[in-house]
Amino acid sequence: MMRTVVTGGAGFLGSHLCEQLLVAGNEVIALDNFLTGTPANVAHLLEHDRFRLVKTDVTEYVHVPGPIDQVLHFASPASPVDYLELPIETMKVGSIGTLHALGLAKEKGARFLLASTSETYGDPQVHPQPESYWGHVNPVGPRGVYDEAKRFAEALTMAYRRTHGTDTAIVRIFNTFGPRMRPNDGRAIPTFIRQALRGEPITVAGDGAQTRSVCYVDDLVNGLLLLLRSDLPGPVNIGNPHELSMLALAERIRVLTGSRSEIAFIDRPVDDPTVRQPDITLAQRELRWEPAVDLDEGLCRTIAWFRQHPQLVV
Ligand code: NAD
Repeated sequence: MMRTVVTGGAGFLGSHLCEQLLVAGNEVIALDNFLTGTPANVAHLLEHDRFRLVKTDVTEYVHVPGPIDQVLHFASPASPVDYLELPIETMKVGSIGTLHALGLAKEKGARFLLASTSETYGDPQVHPQPESYWGHVNPVGPRGVYDEAKRFAEALTMAYRRTHGTDTAIVRIFNTFGPRMRPNDGRAIPTFIRQALRGEPITVAGDGAQTRSVCYVDDLVNGLLLLLRSDLPGPVNIGNPHELSMLALAERIRVLTGSRSEIAFIDRPVDDPTVRQPDITLAQRELRWEPAVDLDEGLCRTIAWFRQHPQLVV
């Protein structure tokens, strides 16, 4: 039986990962300090005899007794609202937290998977973005805390691979959505759904012409598990190449929720990327992975989850 450590295991993606790792027969140890996640995300797993949740700040130390086969490093504030409020925590978990997680993988001879991000491409000047693109990031802008922490984390991961022979992989995750996103985390989809369900104006930044390509969480987790089980070092892009404008996304959510909310235009955040679309040729070829859940289906499942948790939509 595989023993797998997931840092950030009580977060949005981490909780879905823990679930699927349990389904696959792993023993799962989730480490989380609940900075942006919550034990409620994994409450339904606590009864499971192969699951353990340990409150740990991975910037302080990461120690897990016994053998470990896989270390998945997902701890980090991830939404712009979170990392702009928590800039130093974000930089610490991307740097010192990654150092500690890599140290655990090295000590145990485990395969290490770093959750990196499409934000490493910054406001990209190559479109769509292949893994070979080095990015266009403003290090001193407000978003630099997240982008540069992840770029540092990627470099550190490669240093462990080259220096210590640690078996590492890097995934560059593109915008992902689904159940258990926080309605107030500032990301577009939960914000639009919350506003639509409350009948409030749906706030689109700028003129809404900027694009994103959004991936449903189940597809993303399938891709992550394929990468984990492969011996690819990455970076590998995992995301859904279906690109649409933010205005189109807001309109889709209005239709699917049956809302009468109007669309209101607000200021664009600083350094907000204009376009974003993964080139997933590498994942298609090497992992035989492709997203399978289309936008409307993914949105409907997410909207259903928000409706089932009305206490969150406040
Ligand atoms: P999330 O905020 O829901 O999850 C992050 C988790 O990490 C939270 O549970 C938080 O409490 C925990 N955490 C933060 N700092 C910690 C620390 N010092 N010690 C222990 N735990 C800590 O965010 P998410 O969307 O699930 O993102 C998970 C990972 O995936 C992040 O590394 C993020 O950068 C990456 N990612 C996510 C997306 C996306 O679209 N959701 C896109 C690209 C990359």
